Amino acid sequence: MRYIVAFAAFLMVSTSALAQDDPVVLVVHGGAGGNKKAMGPAVEKQCRDTMERALKAGRDAIDKGESLDGVEAAIKVLEDSGHFNAGKGAVFNRDGRQELNASIMDGKTRKAGAIAGICRVKNPIAACRVIMEKSGHVFMIGESAERYCKDQGVEMVSPLYFWTDRAWKELQSANAGAKKKAAGLPSPPERGAGGEGDPPHFGTVGAAARDRKGNLAAGTSTGGITYVRPGRVGDSPIIGAGTYAENGVGAVSCTGKGELFIRHTVASDIAARMKYAGDSVNLAASKALNGLPKNPGGAGGIIAIDSKGNVATIFNTAGMFRGTITQSGKIWIAIDPD
Ligand code: ASP
Repeated sequence: MRYIVAFAAFLMVSTSALAQDDPVVLVVHGGAGGNKKAMGPAVEKQCRDTMERALKAGRDAIDKGESLDGVEAAIKVLEDSGHFNAGKGAVFNRDGRQELNASIMDGKTRKAGAIAGICRVKNPIAACRVIMEKSGHVFMIGESAERYCKDQGVEMVSPLYFWTDRAWKELQSANAGAKKKAAGLPSPPERGAGGEGDPPHFGTVGAAARDRKGNLAAGTSTGGITYVRPGRVGDSPIIGAGTYAENGVGAVSCTGKGELFIRHTVASDIAARMKYAGDSVNLAASKALNGLPKNPGGAGGIIAIDSKGNVATIFNTAGMFRGTITQSGKIWIAIDPD
């Protein structure tokens, strides 16, 4: 018996030693919702490849700079790809327009930058960084925010740049569902349940990172939710709801039904559970997600990292695109629950 206990203890020590030797430096998500069947193997492969590129770009940027650089670099790759609901590929609201929202937070300085309701900035996450570092403000919106970003040299594009066939088709299917509902006919189940009429995945993107010095950072970028009312803003650009980072505690990015994440200040709730109750990152994230009212099909998902590189990737939807990369470059990517 003594030997078994000693062997078990050895195993535990050796796994934690391994984790510390090669800790995770970056965790990313590509949205909760998950309908792998509807997505099909070809789209799944494109999304996985993009996520791998994002993880590598993020890790390289952390190597050369710090956690904040990793978050920005990884999210830029996802925003540029057209495969996710952020940057190019953002979903359409019921007016047939795209309104992009994003935020970034630096755990070292507790500085943050956020932007909402824009459609001309190529990389909303880059705009957040500029707002954070140069504007003296945290949150800017609409055309005035775009003008400020342009003046600061942020890359601008035509609103047409963001258009993708996938997002347009998702709007048509949501439109058809809304018409059926208005006519009293059976309509598709609540979005995110992974049922008929659901997008293959929600596709909001986010990243949380930790560098060698233990600095933490997080960011989130989204086009919102298909067929929402124009002007609606979800949790993604709201510091403490969709994004939060605090050195010595944790860095968090959320995805899912934004209204719930705003009302329950989910990202800062996770950090508070870790900071004041001493919960592990995984326990804190699970408690926060379980505390949300249950929708049919779930509310969403969370990624988080602590200052030692322990990671949580949890969701209560059918799936969540997520991945991690370690300091030495080992990559893990998944969609389904493990
Ligand atoms: N949280 C985002 C929003 O409500 C959507 C998502 O993550 O899928 O705008």
